Amino acid sequence: MDKLNSRSHLNSKQRVVIKIGSSSLVHRKTGMLNLPKIEILAREVTDIRNSGKDVVIVSSGAISVGKAAMGLKELHSLKQKQACAAIGQVRLMMLYQKFFSEYGLNTAQLLLTKETMLNGESRINARNTFEELFGLGVIPIVNENDTVETYDIRFGDNDRLSAIVTALVHADLLILLSDIKGLYTDDPNENPDAEFIPEVDLIDETLLKMGKGSTGSSFGTGGMSTKLSAAQIATSAGADMIIAHSEDFRILHEILDGKECGTLFRAHPHEFYMMDYLEKM
Ligand code: GLU
Repeated sequence: MDKLNSRSHLNSKQRVVIKIGSSSLVHRKTGMLNLPKIEILAREVTDIRNSGKDVVIVSSGAISVGKAAMGLKELHSLKQKQACAAIGQVRLMMLYQKFFSEYGLNTAQLLLTKETMLNGESRINARNTFEELFGLGVIPIVNENDTVETYDIRFGDNDRLSAIVTALVHADLLILLSDIKGLYTDDPNENPDAEFIPEVDLIDETLLKMGKGSTGSSFGTGGMSTKLSAAQIATSAGADMIIAHSEDFRILHEILDGKECGTLFRAHPHEFYMMDYLEKM
């Protein structure tokens, strides 16, 4: 395939899930919210919606925003994290609602749990809610319902949650925006010889071993291995997936214009049973 045009198909995607990592929403130095960035995100997503596509945002950040709001340096217990999630989630939603309403769109909050996804009836209800929201032209904003999760039964990271949402709503593209440009042969924060991989056709064992490194961020929980698990889920469910840097959210348009940014994982649709993946998490 002509390398120059190898991503032009991304422009015709109809339903896009965009996952935003915690580190992408805050100032690295202070952990406080980066408002101009969130505003740009709202503008970009509104324009994608206005072009006729359905968009879901899976946004992390509840815990780190709650932590910063309370002026806490470290979180020591699960209940402390859950309290911060409860504090931060409303702040996050308030901002999303504010910025999106400036561009004329409504947002909706969907807090999902692994248990809800494991339960067939709840899963169908969640899917119906998404469909209804798409029909209303509303932007669903998803997070894990951290306040009720236990260590044993939870997603624990929004990379895999966003892939499950992609499968649930039959999206055809998942974009993971994080503080890393894409997939490398090794952790680029530790190994200067690590090479960037622009495209992945097949996720095999060798590739999964490359995912051992973390993003090097003190915000959020996803490392490269959770991104690769997300890629396995999303591509098997029939969606392409891109990992790209979140420094400038205008990258969303570049991705949909088919420009070579980030790492593209190509869809490999086959019979997909969400339960198989959920049970392994
Ligand atoms: N649900 C967590 C939060 O909102 C984030 C999980 C993640 O970083 O992947 O803080």
